[in-house]
Amino acid sequence: MNDLKDSTYDLIVIGSGPAGEKAAMEASRMRRSTAIIERHSVQGGVCLHTGTIPSKTLRETAVYIAGLRQRTAYGLVGGIRTDLSIRDLMHRKDQVIQEELDVIQQNMMQNRIEVIHGSARITGAHTVVVTDPSGQTRSINAEVIIIATGTRSYHPDHIPFDHKYIYDAETIIDLDVLPRTLTIAGGGVIGCEYASIFSHLGVKVIIVDPRRKLLSFLDHEIADALAYLMRKYGITLVLGESAEQIGVENNQVVTVTATKRRIVSDRLLYAAGRCGNTDELGLDALGIKTDERGLIKVDERYRTAVPSIYAVGDVIGFPSLASVSMDQGRLAAIHAFKKDDVSCLNTLLPFGIYTIPEVSIVGETEESLTAAGQEYEIGIARYFELARGQIINDHDGMLKLIFDPKSKRILGVHIIGDRASELVHIGQAVMTHGGTIDYFVNTVFNYPTLTDAYKVAAMDGFARLRVRQ
Ligand SMILES: Cc1cc2nc3c(=O)[nH]c(=O)nc-3n(C[C@H](O)[C@H](O)[C@H](O)COP(=O)(O)OP(=O)(O)OC[C@H]3O[C@@H](n4cnc5c(N)ncnc54)[C@H](O)[C@@H]3O)c2cc1C
Repeated sequence: MNDLKDSTYDLIVIGSGPAGEKAAMEASRMRRSTAIIERHSVQGGVCLHTGTIPSKTLRETAVYIAGLRQRTAYGLVGGIRTDLSIRDLMHRKDQVIQEELDVIQQNMMQNRIEVIHGSARITGAHTVVVTDPSGQTRSINAEVIIIATGTRSYHPDHIPFDHKYIYDAETIIDLDVLPRTLTIAGGGVIGCEYASIFSHLGVKVIIVDPRRKLLSFLDHEIADALAYLMRKYGITLVLGESAEQIGVENNQVVTVTATKRRIVSDRLLYAAGRCGNTDELGLDALGIKTDERGLIKVDERYRTAVPSIYAVGDVIGFPSLASVSMDQGRLAAIHAFKKDDVSCLNTLLPFGIYTIPEVSIVGETEESLTAAGQEYEIGIARYFELARGQIINDHDGMLKLIFDPKSKRILGVHIIGDRASELVHIGQAVMTHGGTIDYFVNTVFNYPTLTDAYKVAAMDGFARLRVRQ
């Protein structure tokens, strides 16, 4: 080994995605010397470069373009250029990534976090060996190591990924042309989000998924509404069918399902599962076990089997969201350096699904309460009942409150429609503080707003309670 320099830090973070970045920032706030190791030339992880930020920026582009299309349908001037290339569509994404990257780099500099570029391997409870892009190695030591190496798309052996015709969830943003038809194998969150985005860009999308229902963890009414709207926007749903064979024939992707149905499309996105970036970390030798998808098991303080080594973010599995990963990183640093701190994450996690329309949920569903044998009541507001819903022309949106009929405490909030991922946090805050539907009935909101949906849904809930009595 050709050691460039041996260094010692309080904390070494491996991976500079949202989990690693926030872990490093927290340690630096506690005045701990920190190094962050990143194998790519730039920081930000899947979140910034290939996942969350690019997909959400592309979604915004799709919504904008679809809006322009709608305007021309109403006879207004200023339709879209018909020769828009994939480069044009991706231009805004590149801008947003660069600006976000600037913020991250600024944060690292201001907090005196040393960024080391190279691939990390843990060789002892306090030692990491980094191989830089030129192949040189360097050994560094720290009191604490936090693994935040994230995940990558799962590549089953029988899928011939070439990133020309057959893409995964990371490479799909590198499409060379906007295809006329796109098959998406896997109707999970990522599959559904990209289906919405591409269909709003004018691509004919076909989703193939072995499950009979899309996003079955959602409240059934919301899941049904989403499936209905996806079909309405031209997405074909082939459910209860798995993509058994996928190959390229005559410049087209041919997908054959279990029932021998042949689906031919210009391109295919395989979005069925992810696996942990742990294979190169040397965990076995340290006694840190991973599951069959390479994910690390940790305790409630994000500790692995080795007391000085923590793991956070997607590499520890569910819920695998940037939102949660950031807080896990922050908390792991706190637990590592302030042993008596009992901070933990609020278990009431919101989920935002950026389909078009978007969906957001927090708390219990009707299904989970029924399974637990718990009594509940619901209250529903449709966006068309709201002045703001009419103004923005969202007639399909809906907000559903689920509450305890005796105490009237809110147990769940489920929203489909414009601004769902923002609106859900109002319900989340009220739930966190044990609030009831009375709060929404007796509180004045700006008018006209979509927030009014909470008041309408609470009123509906009261009306349903009266019927029960
Ligand atoms: C298409 C898509 C859309 C998504 N949309 C959303 C969304 O809307 N909202 C949301 O909350 N989440 C979303 N996610 C999930 C989100 O991207 C992840 O939850 C988040 O990126 C996890 O952060 P992380 O820090 O754990 O890992 P990552 O962001 O994956 O970062 C891990 C970093 O570790 C580095 N690394 C790995 N191994 C090594 C090594 N040995 N040495 C050095 N460096 C290493 C990698 O290069 C990478 O930079 C989406 C994901 C995808 C794929």
